[in-house]
Amino acid sequence: MDDYLQARKQMVLEQIAARGIRDARVLAAMETVPRHLFLPPEEQAYAYSDGPLPIGHGQTISQPYIVALMTELLALQGQERVLEVGTGSGYQAAILGKLAAEVHTVEIIPELAQGAQEILKNLGLTNVWVHIGDGSLGWPPAAPYHGILVAAAAPDVPQPLLEQLADGGRLVIPIGGRGFQELQLWQRHGKRYRQERNISVAFVLLRGEHGWK
Ligand code: SAH
Repeated sequence: MDDYLQARKQMVLEQIAARGIRDARVLAAMETVPRHLFLPPEEQAYAYSDGPLPIGHGQTISQPYIVALMTELLALQGQERVLEVGTGSGYQAAILGKLAAEVHTVEIIPELAQGAQEILKNLGLTNVWVHIGDGSLGWPPAAPYHGILVAAAAPDVPQPLLEQLADGGRLVIPIGGRGFQELQLWQRHGKRYRQERNISVAFVLLRGEHGWK
């Protein structure tokens, strides 16, 4: 029994579809993945509310709409290998796992990585690999990636991430400092990279070699 299925359906309708997310696979994934299981017990009642929530260690799980938007921008068809930087709770990785063939997600705080791995395993998401490390360097062993999603704000696009993008691949990343950032979509065409701006967002800061010091 899933007590929260009704809440999830409502979340998809009122927060995500209503704001213009159209990709049917993304909407289905958001309706399927039990977001409350990725939260500490005291936050589970708020799992389907329209905002970010604390997950411990000063980090947050993104607002459902932002998870859907960033995922839609990757335009996944199902065959892709995807990298996520900033595993946090593991929720975004689970959504990606439903939509791509293989997901690698890198988290710099070991306790968060371990917690996420446990939940993903319990949900039977065997195509998601959680790695502990500095994701501002990407994850070279599994590169190149058809999609890269960065869930923390960077000062500039980390060069290793551009290099680990496959030809035709897409990178979604919030660029900016403390407070607000702009969500950018980068697409690789051979040696060239095309960039589009998206909306204004607010993420926690990316640490590590290509993050904020
Ligand atoms: N996608 C997550 C939310 C991530 S919050 C979810 O669905 O819950 C951003 C995360 O990025 C935090 O957990 C933070 O510890 C992590 N992070 C920050 N800098 C990082 C880096 N250089 N490499 C890997 N993870 C990083």
